Amino acid sequence: MSHSLAEHYHEILVGVGENPQREGLRDTPQRAAKAMQYLCNGYGQNLEEVVNGALFETQNDEMIVVRDIELYSLCEHHMLPFIGKAHVAYLPTGRVLGLSKVARVVDMFARRLQIQENLTRQIAYAVQEVTHAAGVGVVIEAKHMCMMMRGVEKQNSLMISSVMLGEFRESPTTRHEFLSLIGRHP
Ligand SMILES: [Zn+2]
Repeated sequence: MSHSLAEHYHEILVGVGENPQREGLRDTPQRAAKAMQYLCNGYGQNLEEVVNGALFETQNDEMIVVRDIELYSLCEHHMLPFIGKAHVAYLPTGRVLGLSKVARVVDMFARRLQIQENLTRQIAYAVQEVTHAAGVGVVIEAKHMCMMMRGVEKQNSLMISSVMLGEFRESPTTRHEFLSLIGRHP
């Protein structure tokens, strides 16, 4: 796959008017192919292997919030980056997910071609599936290079998306607690 992806990058260089033989670009197709494969390595992962059994029993039924998870993804419309933060919260019912695993679930879905709304939803349902939580809340705030570098060139717009499941959807108190814990006052 990396060979043919590199060939395609070679064609892209020609297509944008470059000379792929010039010194600075000689290894670019291979490098770009490798980078793109890394940025899309979420396709080769699944929830089970990412979580890898890192679930721990707990009596705690208070909200768990993992905030400010760095997020790097590629938009599926332009294949340009969108960059921001994810905040993930859930109400455990007997088991909690290892802290680093929450970030790895975010990465697994972020390292695919995405739109922010679907990414938010996929993370929420994955956390729900793994933890059997009484509720899950996910908020993503991100800046999209396809808006900032081209098109409308809006450099400061931030897109915020959220998905609330279970208690987070049904109980305004729970939702408000989550939003205030991530610094977004409802
Ligand atoms: Zn885009």
